Amino acid sequence: MAKLKSEPGWKDLDAGFVMREPGTSREYKTGDWRSERPVVDQSQCIKCGICYIFCPDMAIAKTEEGFFQADLYYCKGCGICSAECFTGCITMVAEEE
Ligand code: SF4
Ligand code: SF4
Repeated sequence: MAKLKSEPGWKDLDAGFVMREPGTSREYKTGDWRSERPVVDQSQCIKCGICYIFCPDMAIAKTEEGFFQADLYYCKGCGICSAECFTGCITMVAEEE
């Protein structure tokens, strides 16, 4: 189950559980049950951004150098970026226990 960075207690919630702020999914750590992580060989990356486009979790962001890197806080390890990468420079690596 996803974990909140800082989980509120029941006393912190408004009566009726009124949601006052939209977009709270950013607060949920969804990558902590991943079994594999994507590792990019930057020497083979052509900076095309296909991995960014295909990631179903919007977990990939562009770095200052123009490469694309997965935010492991959100990456679920599905491997789609690796399957779609033109140059095959993304390898899925097993997470350590
Ligand atoms: S493994 Fe899946 S969730 Fe993680 S960055 Fe690649 S496409 Fe996105
Ligand atoms: S799809 Fe592959 S080559 Fe293209 S930006 Fe992503 S890692 Fe680089």
